[in-house]
Amino acid sequence: MSERNKKSNITEEIPNIHWADHVAEELIEKHPQKEKFVCASGISPSGVVHIGNFREAITVDFVVRALLDRNKAVRFLYSWDDYDAFRKVPANMPNQEMLQKHLRQPISLVPDPFGQYPSYAAHFEKRFEAEISQLGVKPDYIYQNIPYREGKYVQGIKDALAHEKEIIEILNRSRTEPLPDNWTCLSIFCKTCSKDTTELLKRESDTIFSYHCKVCKKDNTIDMSKEGGVKLLWRVDWPMRWAQEGVDFEPGGKDHSSQGGSYDTGVEIVKQVWKREAPTYVQYDFVIAKGAGAKLSSSSGNLLTLGETLEIYEPAIIRWIFASRKPNLDFAIAFDLDVIKAYDDFDRCERFAYGVEEGDEKKVRYERRIYEFSCVDRVFPRNYSNLPAQFSFRHLCNVLQIHQGDLEKAKEFYSGIIKTTEDEARFCCRAKRAWKWITEFAPEEFKFALQLQPSHRPQMVAPLKELIQLLKEDGVEKWTEETLATRTFEIMKRNQVEPKAFFQDVYRILVNKPNGPKLASFLLAIGPKRSSEILEKALSTNNG
Ligand SMILES: [Zn+2]
Repeated sequence: MSERNKKSNITEEIPNIHWADHVAEELIEKHPQKEKFVCASGISPSGVVHIGNFREAITVDFVVRALLDRNKAVRFLYSWDDYDAFRKVPANMPNQEMLQKHLRQPISLVPDPFGQYPSYAAHFEKRFEAEISQLGVKPDYIYQNIPYREGKYVQGIKDALAHEKEIIEILNRSRTEPLPDNWTCLSIFCKTCSKDTTELLKRESDTIFSYHCKVCKKDNTIDMSKEGGVKLLWRVDWPMRWAQEGVDFEPGGKDHSSQGGSYDTGVEIVKQVWKREAPTYVQYDFVIAKGAGAKLSSSSGNLLTLGETLEIYEPAIIRWIFASRKPNLDFAIAFDLDVIKAYDDFDRCERFAYGVEEGDEKKVRYERRIYEFSCVDRVFPRNYSNLPAQFSFRHLCNVLQIHQGDLEKAKEFYSGIIKTTEDEARFCCRAKRAWKWITEFAPEEFKFALQLQPSHRPQMVAPLKELIQLLKEDGVEKWTEETLATRTFEIMKRNQVEPKAFFQDVYRILVNKPNGPKLASFLLAIGPKRSSEILEKALSTNNG
């Protein structure tokens, strides 16, 4: 069987090779009769939603896709826990004084300090939703303040209250100090000041509670069957919602995953109160930024956002960064020179997927599966007949610098490669990010400015003259990098000059620095004719 035939067979099967496939298989094994699975994630929009929060959503997205690939229906829930109390004003927020006044109110009730959205919660929710949709992640959003205020959880709260003693026992098992005698899993927002600074005085019935507010000093009663304002504390709220929504899979961060943490107690509470098994769980670890310097800290308080990552990385590459790592390993997203490596590795993964890059069958299958998870639009099985146009990030950075960031001129340079509108879209998507990276994050040694009026006086005149002649030869613009490099080395050999010294001489002319991008590739990127003109100018400076 030929190599090509072997490869085309791979697309026929559903691969069970990625961790998300393993989770999907486990879920199906656990619930063999189930046709529709519920996969959930969620966070409290208590401030800027960062890349670590995104990891939770993308972890679910991979499992959702693995289930869809197995012809299962899936509901992907994303819970905005915006009925949580506003506990702390983040230091990077404007209007600190205004926000201080709204502490302990539901986040969905706190005004937007930027004045753009109906609430503080909505501001961060909508920003993140817009970011995440660019990556093809489109869950069903639940804004928890709505079901809570509409009484959708009344039965769940009643169930929890009916089993409060058992809940306290479960929670105490993972505590050093037992919960105080007056502890309750209920949290009541005061009807006067909207804050959760209340203590329960008495349960008048299973839906009516009297309370005292420690802030406005008022006593009052609240009837949760008729009005909002009552919620469950996190450790009980979470398992209640697993039961209510029928959640089959939900990942959690480190903070929820420790022994005796909220997942552990949730497992027992959901079994005890709602007679149900907890969802299958995957722990995910932290994500940080590397090499971003102070650039990111001002807007997000040292937390990298998805929006900031999207300015440097293409959506598919962000998906790939997460898809190619196990969720329980922490890692850093690079903003330094390693950005180039990430782009190169992704391009390589794409070539593996299209059968262009050689590798053993297992490697190719794995890379192809990661590539499938990386694509913004889910298509399964995918047609791998034609590798799309690839633009090496490093090369693109050089071409852009030669043209001082002029995207149109850079596009002209690639006119031989850009053949379709898709190619053009791929070029633009990458080029604008490459230029952003050059101007804001690239280290100095990577940057250069082409010297159209060179000031350097060349030292090695004879080989330089030969190089100029070479760059004027017929058809040179069609040469490969290798051909030009070989011919350049012949010149150096003939003239008995050290390559290092000669290169330095040429780089000083071209970019006024002792080094630069790989010379042959660089001369072709500048254009042989244009390169020869610059070198000639330097020679005439030397003579004059
Ligand atoms: Zn009050």
